[in-house]
Amino acid sequence: MEHNPENHSLKCPKCQHGMVEVEHGEVVIDRCTNCHGLWFDADEAHQLKSLPESHAVDIGDPKEGWKWDSRVEIDCPHCGKRMELTSDAKQKHIWYEICHDHGMFMDAGEFADFKEENLLDWFKSVIKGDRETVCP
Ligand SMILES: [Zn+2]
Ligand SMILES: [Zn+2]
Repeated sequence: MEHNPENHSLKCPKCQHGMVEVEHGEVVIDRCTNCHGLWFDADEAHQLKSLPESHAVDIGDPKEGWKWDSRVEIDCPHCGKRMELTSDAKQKHIWYEICHDHGMFMDAGEFADFKEENLLDWFKSVIKGDRETVCP
């Protein structure tokens, strides 16, 4: 849907269409009505990552997201500054754009992927914990 300040909370930095607010628990993020990319203010991605079922906000098809992933030069929807392309410290295959003053943008499917790792980490720590108990 074309961006219209009356209906949309933000303009998608990737495809320039309108973004709408999506709520999960206490966290409110913005999702693009066209490419389904997600905007997270400040630390919202990490807050949301720790909430159960939060991958539900990422409704986009990852295949669509990958298509948009190739357009890397985007500007922050809040300040207009060029955003920095950053790969996740733990999951190097996940790339997102970040504005150090405002937040970050993830393509469709990336948040679900980002979230997944949390569970894997949790399983790893459980297994490690068990080993320590069995072999002190
Ligand atoms: Zn978009
Ligand atoms: Zn900014």
